[in-house]
Amino acid sequence: MHATGLKCVFCQATYSLEPLYECAACTGLLEVVYDRTQADDPRALLPISKQDRIHLGEGETSLLSAPRLAKRLGIKELLLKCEFMNPTGSFKDRPVAIGISKAVEFGFQKVIAASSGNGAASVSAYAARAGLEAIILVPESTPIEKVRQTLAYGAKVIRVKGPYSNCFSLAKQLGESQNIFNLTTTLLNPYTVEGNKAVAHELYEQMKGFVPDVIYVPIGAGPLLIGIYRGYEEARHFHEGTKLPRMAGIQATGNNPIATAFTLGESVVRSEPNPQTIAGGIADGLVGYEKDGTYTLQIVNQSNGFVLDVSDARILEAQILLAEEEGVFVEPSAAAGIAGLMKSLEEHRISENDSVVVVLTGHGLKDMGNVRVASEVPTIENGMEQLLGVVGK
Ligand SMILES: [Zn+2]
Repeated sequence: MHATGLKCVFCQATYSLEPLYECAACTGLLEVVYDRTQADDPRALLPISKQDRIHLGEGETSLLSAPRLAKRLGIKELLLKCEFMNPTGSFKDRPVAIGISKAVEFGFQKVIAASSGNGAASVSAYAARAGLEAIILVPESTPIEKVRQTLAYGAKVIRVKGPYSNCFSLAKQLGESQNIFNLTTTLLNPYTVEGNKAVAHELYEQMKGFVPDVIYVPIGAGPLLIGIYRGYEEARHFHEGTKLPRMAGIQATGNNPIATAFTLGESVVRSEPNPQTIAGGIADGLVGYEKDGTYTLQIVNQSNGFVLDVSDARILEAQILLAEEEGVFVEPSAAAGIAGLMKSLEEHRISENDSVVVVLTGHGLKDMGNVRVASEVPTIENGMEQLLGVVGK
């Protein structure tokens, strides 16, 4: 616990720990502040006490070494942080577990979320676990696997025409007008973001205090990237001399507002009204909350990192490469991290001797529509001769 209040990341105005979503003074983003002197471990810095946590066993995900893929890409060391191994198959479970716990603490009966699918499934699952009602708005293009998973946990799911930003805006309006706790996992809810810090705390332990040179994170608005960087800053507070990693934010070429601002050297991010990419989890055009992108860019720059974008074709290629070389099957939005690593090596943004962690955000089973595998497999009747004909002698 040890949380003492909320603070605006832009103008530093402070607030008490309430269900707030933006700074009353400047409409800026809010973050949770802690009394670090009272804690003896960064893991204790969360806005909810341990006994009040709603959980489904999220966290403690595997960190896999990927020697075959590293060799193929020409780098010395590559580690995969497997966030798709969380209970609902994506990284969203950590932030949502914290958010739902806060909903219960605040006394809400209902929660709402705008999501491209992973947050949807997660909010629906954790709401069920806590006995709350969930309303979920998803873009029309959301993969059927994610919609059906969300329905299975019992949420009311509504498809909204147009890009993700339309869902975001409607969820915000309904949440405000009907006093429903908003668990949209952009940077809107200051409590959910805190759940992402645990990825850094775990990496710190799994790597025995060694900090990787670069961490690759696929980004829409960027709460995961921000959470991870914040987690390392906390680790440094408790372990003097700890360095901070460079953060690499990866976007899709058809939706690259943060990458564009980075490339142009601008400090303010402008929204993308019409995102076009098969990587639905990062197809967030930030319309109406461009400030999320601006803050993410600020953190990337602070870390001496970079933001780049990768084409859908490269994402699908990376998805199969990762599956074939390492036996790890992730959705396109997660494969974007691998595609980004490949591109940054070509562009010499990192060295082949750098230690690299790629955060794999969502499971491959969640979005099967575009996977580049054979559309049909051979069917035989029964005979050995026919089988040998197919598999070869
Ligand atoms: Zn402010």
